[in-house]
Amino acid sequence: MPSGRVHEAINLSVLGLATAAYWAYRQDLEVPQPVAAAFMGSYLLGTFLITPDLDLAEQQVRAKGRWGWMGWFWVPYGWMFAHRGLSHTWIVGPLTRILYLGAMGMVVYWLFSALSSYLGLSIHLQPRFNTPPQEVLWALALGYYASQWLHLIADGIWPDAGRILRGRRRR
Ligand SMILES: [Zn+2]
Repeated sequence: MPSGRVHEAINLSVLGLATAAYWAYRQDLEVPQPVAAAFMGSYLLGTFLITPDLDLAEQQVRAKGRWGWMGWFWVPYGWMFAHRGLSHTWIVGPLTRILYLGAMGMVVYWLFSALSSYLGLSIHLQPRFNTPPQEVLWALALGYYASQWLHLIADGIWPDAGRILRGRRRR
């Protein structure tokens, strides 16, 4: 099975080809730059930082290492998900990592506000951001999913939810 390094190389090669195609046909395609940038950004995120193999985060994996000292953050994810189980499915798999990130973010936010109010600090975190335009959101989702799907294809996993349901997992 491809190592983390090989996965990154495959994803980057495909991104390179896609970028070249985009550049060649940019006049006809008329993809706005923020959309292209959003796709690329989330694709790179999914290639280097949020990969399906984080289901092995209780051990040492490449993506976890890229988080630096924050790599421990993914360890519970590794405990929760068997390697190449649900984490390596086409639709739900990538979603589990986003939901996990969101849940962990909320825990960190909650701990921080509890601590600051305990210490009597008047730090008020008001996470406020404007929702980006819809096409940018779609590009973000698509870029992330494309990076995850390439990983799955390289692992030899094709869209077939039935295999997981039947419990015939391949290692
Ligand atoms: Zn994998």
